[in-house]
Amino acid sequence: MKIGFIGTGVMGHAIIVNLMNAGHELFVYNRTKSKTDDLVANGATWKDTPKEIAAASEIIFTMVGYPQDVEQVYYDESTGIFASDVKDKILVDLTTSTPSLAEKINQTANDKGAASLDAPVSGGDLGAQNATLTIMVGGEQTVYNKVMPLFEKMGKTYTLHGTAGKGQHTKMANQIMIAGTMTGMTEMLVYADKAGLSLQKVMDTLAGGGAANWSMTNYGPRILKDDYSPGFFVKHFIKDLKIALDEAKKMSLDLPSTQLATQLYEKLADQGNENDGTQALIKLWWKERTNS
Ligand code: NAP
Repeated sequence: MKIGFIGTGVMGHAIIVNLMNAGHELFVYNRTKSKTDDLVANGATWKDTPKEIAAASEIIFTMVGYPQDVEQVYYDESTGIFASDVKDKILVDLTTSTPSLAEKINQTANDKGAASLDAPVSGGDLGAQNATLTIMVGGEQTVYNKVMPLFEKMGKTYTLHGTAGKGQHTKMANQIMIAGTMTGMTEMLVYADKAGLSLQKVMDTLAGGGAANWSMTNYGPRILKDDYSPGFFVKHFIKDLKIALDEAKKMSLDLPSTQLATQLYEKLADQGNENDGTQALIKLWWKERTNS
């Protein structure tokens, strides 16, 4: 199948490799062209604009950073996906973005005889590399059925949650949960460290009990190695938490724990750590770790 892919960062690059390994023909575009060099060396075809990607492909995936990037990639009047004839094509946005933008893209796609899905993912850089992502989808069942064979090459769990935008809402539910597991893991490590415990032993023990969770299993070991590389960027988590709080506000919901997590991550970013991975939250407490 001819697949277009826009956004070849941490997540997009790894997903493209899996799609190419499954035998698909890939057309790629990224703001910084050099991030596609190895993909092109391995058989992908570079296109100069999202518009050209759309013209060359049957299904177009986007995996960019922020909602404004999604807006630009789809709607730029001269270079965007919708500047191309998209009739009968399927557009799938994997970016974590706003439910309202997903609805808008769906409306435009339908107006132009195309179809769209919002399909944000969870599972991190390793999930993308190992094709074990969880994919949360909004859109029409018939469109979902057509894209499912490709979701199978990217992830282990994929679920249609309803009409356009519902995939993004599900991702917000996911991020609200992650806000709790990241702050919980961080405070747990800070406490265990001060109490003079072996952090490795504590994590091994907790992983077998009621406190077991994905954040600790995946990011705890990175913290113990002082590895704060992304993974999942602090700046993107702040973006997600702000979308979640905005959506909650629209539903007249107060989410104080998510608000506090947002403030903590904003403080971390203000200290110059916005391009670290989210496990860097512990830097708010640790200048130097005392135990290991
Ligand atoms: P990333 O490494 O920054 O990748 C985003 C890519 O999109 C970059 O290569 C960027 O280009 C490109 N891009 C941005 N705007 C563009 C535009 N207008 N035109 C063309 N390309 C554009 O981030 P990531 O970690 O892959 O995350 C991507 C999305 O997935 C984010 O929404 C994030 O919240 C979400 N997500 C990430 C994870 C994770 O663990 N990393 C997990 C789940 C969801 P440049 O190279 O020029 O910057």
